Amino acid sequence: MIHNVIIIGSGPAGHTAALYLARANLCPLMLESDSTGPVVSGGLLTTTEIVENFPGFPDGIDGQELTARFKEQSLRFGTKILPETVVRINKQTTESELFEVVTNESTYNTRAIIIATGSTPNRLYVPGYDDFWHRGISTCAVCDGGLPCFKNVPLAVVGGGDSACEEAIHLTHTASKVYLIHRRDSLRASKIMVDRVLANPKIEMVWNSEVARVGGTKRVEIVELKNTIDLSLSELQVKGLFVAIGHTPNSRFLSGLVELDQVGYIKTNEKKETSVKGVWAVGDVQDPHYRQAITAAGSGCVAALEVERWLC
Ligand code: NAP
Repeated sequence: MIHNVIIIGSGPAGHTAALYLARANLCPLMLESDSTGPVVSGGLLTTTEIVENFPGFPDGIDGQELTARFKEQSLRFGTKILPETVVRINKQTTESELFEVVTNESTYNTRAIIIATGSTPNRLYVPGYDDFWHRGISTCAVCDGGLPCFKNVPLAVVGGGDSACEEAIHLTHTASKVYLIHRRDSLRASKIMVDRVLANPKIEMVWNSEVARVGGTKRVEIVELKNTIDLSLSELQVKGLFVAIGHTPNSRFLSGLVELDQVGYIKTNEKKETSVKGVWAVGDVQDPHYRQAITAAGSGCVAALEVERWLC
């Protein structure tokens, strides 16, 4: 059997593409991952406590519930969804230009592919990280910063890039104070972001410091720091820790099929085409800048409309 299109990944980008393609009677197959690799079934949204910035939900919606609704809608219009993890894609060299998608369970032939495998936020490997994950530790200030538990309390952000600066500035709108912890004495972020951070009276820089441990009872209460120069230890009393030390796009399994940037993000054009005809990429795996559910969904729509034109 030859599929019209296989969508790899099941976050907002993948499901939006599936919805459009299913409604166009193209019977998409979605491989949503069995969560044995870095690609999470349902995408990063499933790890968000409450989503308040996706239109249509004035009271917010639990990330898992929103993903379940995406899935329900994709299924309703005829998308076939299998919990399989793609390990390899082979481009067939025949004139038909078919692709072979190899999973941990089976092999599928398809005319088109949409890659929607997302990215994984880099994590800290320190005591307390796993205990307080989602109990004060987050990797998305835009998603979680507005929650009541983070309002009018001191918070910390770790990282020194544009993301960390953006998260710190974002949190100042609601937190009482924000500590920005960085392991060196200068920020990697762009000059404009550095200037904004340094000029913000609510942000206090904590230079030359690494997080050594996260502690608390039910939720985060302290972040223990180790000075990277004299190795001394100190503590910050905070109610939340936002980790912004980069993301890793889930593109390794592609091993050379499409062009990537230096970090590993798939290079796409405005139509979400990759460097290989017949292969599109959508959502966070091709987006180092915005990484929002709604921008991911938009890119899924763009690719689906392009795939429809390509197939018909
Ligand atoms: P990034 O530029 O790679 O910065 C990651 C930061 O985390 C670095 O400062 C790094 O420290 C620090 N870090 C890495 N591992 C760490 C660890 N284990 N412990 C403590 N600190 C650690 O990542 P990003 O900020 O997510 O930005 C990624 C790309 O997206 C960049 O090109 C950025 O310009 C872009 N971006 C743009 C915007 C915007 O234009 N609005 C917003 C966000 C991101 P070192 O500096 O010491 O290496």
